[in-house]
Amino acid sequence: MAVVARRPGGARRGATRPGEAAVARVMRALAKAITGLEMPAVEKISESQAEDPFQVLIATLLSARTQDATTLAASTRLFARAKTPHAMAELSVKEIEKLIYPVSFYRNKARHVQACCQMLVDEFGGVVPSTMEELTSLPGVGRKTANLVLILSFRSRDNICVDTHVHRISNRLGWVKTALPEETEQALYAATDRRWWASINLYLVTWGQNVCRPVYPRCGDCVISADCPKFGVVKRASGFRASAAGGNR
Ligand code: SF4
Repeated sequence: MAVVARRPGGARRGATRPGEAAVARVMRALAKAITGLEMPAVEKISESQAEDPFQVLIATLLSARTQDATTLAASTRLFARAKTPHAMAELSVKEIEKLIYPVSFYRNKARHVQACCQMLVDEFGGVVPSTMEELTSLPGVGRKTANLVLILSFRSRDNICVDTHVHRISNRLGWVKTALPEETEQALYAATDRRWWASINLYLVTWGQNVCRPVYPRCGDCVISADCPKFGVVKRASGFRASAAGGNR
């Protein structure tokens, strides 16, 4: 069972120091358990495109709040039409909209993709930059996208990419006590050993899509159940369910 350090009065805040051994057990168990499960869309694209930073960057921009199958199909259509920042900057926003529909917020994302490609051409010589500061200067690129590009394409071991799955599961595990993914990223740097940082996204996103689902987590089938205090999850006669207190974030 994870040892969760609690602040005086019982409240947990920020990083909760889950214990190195507990984190290691969870990460090793997940490394085995995700073998054979469907990989997240951006990882698939990264693997099939030799970790091309441009395709990882654009696919991650498209992936926000969108089902993986939709992201994969939209990215494939877009890259079939334009594979480089120069070629994609030549497309109109309307053309990009048509190619990426039906990803969520496709109009906003099309504007960001076009502006991002234009900036890559104008200010970075058509090359995706490799620092957090430069990446987050690109239109529509936040820390989540920048972290994933740094991990997948530039092989950084100093970054954690936090999306909704990583945020939800690390709170359920008691590794952090946070309200927002941005807080979770910083809390995870404090709560976990650096050797796990680059793997946290792949392991927790895959687990979140298959087992630790937002509303109905499959705790009864979960290989890390013994190390999980299941914060925000309640057991009902019908099975496990996220509590109203935010466990389905
Ligand atoms: S499925 Fe249940 S036991 Fe497994 S990580 Fe999620 S909350 Fe914990």
